[in-house]
Amino acid sequence: MSKIKIDSPGKLLVPDQVTIPYIMGDGVGVEVTPVMQAVVDAAIHKAYAGAKKIEWKEVMAGEKAYNATGSWLPEETLHAFDEYLVGIKGPLTTPVGGGIRSLNVMLRQTLDLYVCLRPVRWFKGVESPLKRPDLVDMHIFRENTEDIYAGIEWEAGTAEAKKFYDFIHNELGVTKVRFPETSSFGVKPVSREGTERLVRAACKYALEHDLKRVTLVHKGNIMKYTEGGFKKWGYELAQCEFADAIASGKLVINDNIADAFLQNTLLRPQDYDVIATLNLNGDYISDQLAAMVGGIGIAPGANINYDSGHAIFEATHGTAPNIAGQNIVNPSSIILSAVMQLEYMGWTEAAELITQALETCFSSGRATADLARFMPDGQSLGTLEFGQELVQIINENRDEL
Ligand code: NAD
Repeated sequence: MSKIKIDSPGKLLVPDQVTIPYIMGDGVGVEVTPVMQAVVDAAIHKAYAGAKKIEWKEVMAGEKAYNATGSWLPEETLHAFDEYLVGIKGPLTTPVGGGIRSLNVMLRQTLDLYVCLRPVRWFKGVESPLKRPDLVDMHIFRENTEDIYAGIEWEAGTAEAKKFYDFIHNELGVTKVRFPETSSFGVKPVSREGTERLVRAACKYALEHDLKRVTLVHKGNIMKYTEGGFKKWGYELAQCEFADAIASGKLVINDNIADAFLQNTLLRPQDYDVIATLNLNGDYISDQLAAMVGGIGIAPGANINYDSGHAIFEATHGTAPNIAGQNIVNPSSIILSAVMQLEYMGWTEAAELITQALETCFSSGRATADLARFMPDGQSLGTLEFGQELVQIINENRDEL
């Protein structure tokens, strides 16, 4: 088996027999990840009749890694994702205490995975709070490395918070802090480079997928230099690097204030294709948009660095300890993330087979309990049975590809 390599930014060289590292995940991870692998293997086999194959290489992280090695995120795991470029992961428990931040954040930072990509679409049959969920087809590009998520903050009452306040007060003449003694402080770095690479990726993706509009979502009306900078640099980048596409009408760049955007997505979802936004806005937007089309069990995601080629596809939900071990968890999030992975690798025929199988299942009311209970005449399937159903539909698919 061999490794994926990168030829030039955005161009991967994918061997037909390829090794993909994966993290099983904690809690429901042990239930959803094997189901995802069975579905992916079936789709690849069906699409390429043995000419292509994934060899899954397990790497450890989370509780499983901690129990086996004493480390939540062993070096070998980071090495594997670095070396093989493309991987996939189940959900991980966030260690409590001990100064360890989220393992997901550590993975993103180590590999500089600067795009968090969340495609949002509706599947016929899935209940939605919207009147016209069929109009939802949005692709969120959330900046993944900057903003208030950089973790630069000091707690109220500490010497550091006092020092920070003294500096901005004495050196910079800041007088607007209402209660300096009891204030905590955070720093929100937003850079031109960080903005440019995110907006570039969003524009390229829009063009490659025949999506016309890229909307920059920000709060630049309030945070003029950070979120306002994002808007300004975003427009400048698009006008400089995508001038032809804009001039020919293939690409339209616009912007929305974040609060108005959230309202508009509910009222006029058809107005949006690709969304480029900062880290914190992207967090809120991802969850709202996911809820509009079926919620946490069905929302896929990926963290990508388009320059180095590194990408980790992931279940976007957590370890769901309240339902773990009961064969009721919905594996669709990680399955749809695997679809994104196959598309990223250029194995689009296999990706399409899985998407079609999900469409067939949902439109006939067959789903795991979290979705089936809201479907008129819904039929609840266990996690394993749902996976088997998908495999069977893929195997029986007689459509010309
Ligand atoms: P969670 O996503 O695990 O669960 C929230 C709710 O959604 C629960 O009621 C759960 O049963 C339900 N749910 C989640 N996924 C589902 C699925 N696929 N099918 C059906 N129902 C599903 O969030 P939480 O309870 O806040 O977090 C639990 C643990 O997971 C924590 O340790 C948290 O840090 C971690 N977490 C990890 C990730 C990740 O690895 N990407 C993301 C979020 C939370």
